[in-house]
Amino acid sequence: MKIVIDKDKLKSIQDQKITQKKYTIFLVDDEPANIEALTMILEDKYNIIQAYTGNEALALIKNEPNPSRINLIISDQRMPGMSGVEFLKQTIPIIPKTIRMILTGFTDINDIIDSINEGQVYKFLPKPIEPKDLLISIQRALEAYELEKQNIILIEQLKEVNENLEDLVRERTEQLQASLAALQKQKEELEYLSNFQDTLVNELEVLSITDPLTGLANRRWLESFAKEECEKSFRKKNEISVIMIDIDHFKRYNDFYGHALGDKCIKSVAEIIKKNMRPKTDLAARYGGEEFCCILTQTGLEDAWKIAESMILTLKKESIPHEKSETSKFVTISVGVYSTLPKDEESWKELILRADDYLYKAKTNGRNQVWFKE
Ligand code: GH3
Ligand code: MG
Ligand code: MG
Repeated sequence: MKIVIDKDKLKSIQDQKITQKKYTIFLVDDEPANIEALTMILEDKYNIIQAYTGNEALALIKNEPNPSRINLIISDQRMPGMSGVEFLKQTIPIIPKTIRMILTGFTDINDIIDSINEGQVYKFLPKPIEPKDLLISIQRALEAYELEKQNIILIEQLKEVNENLEDLVRERTEQLQASLAALQKQKEELEYLSNFQDTLVNELEVLSITDPLTGLANRRWLESFAKEECEKSFRKKNEISVIMIDIDHFKRYNDFYGHALGDKCIKSVAEIIKKNMRPKTDLAARYGGEEFCCILTQTGLEDAWKIAESMILTLKKESIPHEKSETSKFVTISVGVYSTLPKDEESWKELILRADDYLYKAKTNGRNQVWFKE
């Protein structure tokens, strides 16, 4: 069936209508009467494009500057040259989103049912057309089309939000990890500094109570130890002993051998004293220049005296020459020992003074000997 149409005139009419109506429907049918009937039903609501064969319709779609403005195609199935399904099939790559409908007589339905998928046919409309049914079908289809369009937009937006969210989460995670690493480093540095400070404080504390020349306790340490142990001995009713030691004729030694050797001699005597101390219970200190003091806790006179004697003997064995001594050819010491069971009124100071008295007695009695309380 050959139909001649004035395409330019048709297009100008169509363009005019597009501006007023939202949806555009493409009608394809080889029967002009059918086209006319459909147009009459639809043109109040929709923009209409018409074609009388599949080929003509395809050509119009291909020449259309914006083919996706065609929202819906209603095509007759039985047309000369190209069937409706065949025509619709060819429109899929150009306008994939457009809704496709087939107009067909009941007798053809079984023949085309298999090819419905090929043409992505949304619905087939049986002839004869009921105007009311047609309008409802088209409205439903367009609503579905609109929903689909909104869905696509929503999915796109969702995707974008998801991507942004992932980027944000990744960025924040990286920031957090960096902050954590910095904090951890700071914590380690602080711990290191804190440990270093503790070590320094400990070293300083030890230094402040130690005699630098001999490594023995200094007078300060000894006096606090004496005070503490004296009180403890009083409470527990334990004996406590004090040994005072002084190098004999040390001024002469210093004058003759010089200050450096004098220091060396003080160190040697300190070593001997240290060797005679028992760990935990005893404390030896350099009390003054060449004078030493030992506190022996839980120790009676007999043991203290033995320790003092042992000091004198060990020094004798060392035989440090002392040419200028009036007492011996070698360096000697004098020792005073005082032992007591501390009484209430007896202070640690008295203990030391008593031991010093006995040291004095040893000196006046000829040096190089131990004196103690009878
Ligand atoms: P005595 O037998 O009566 O104890 O007589 P001494 O000469 O040992 O006693 P004195 O108190 O008269 O002299 C002690 C000397 O010890 C005085 C000083 O030259 C010396 N002296 C004190 N401290 C040090 C020191 O740290 N190093 C050295 N090398 N000598 C010291
Ligand atoms: Mg002396
Ligand atoms: Mg002295």
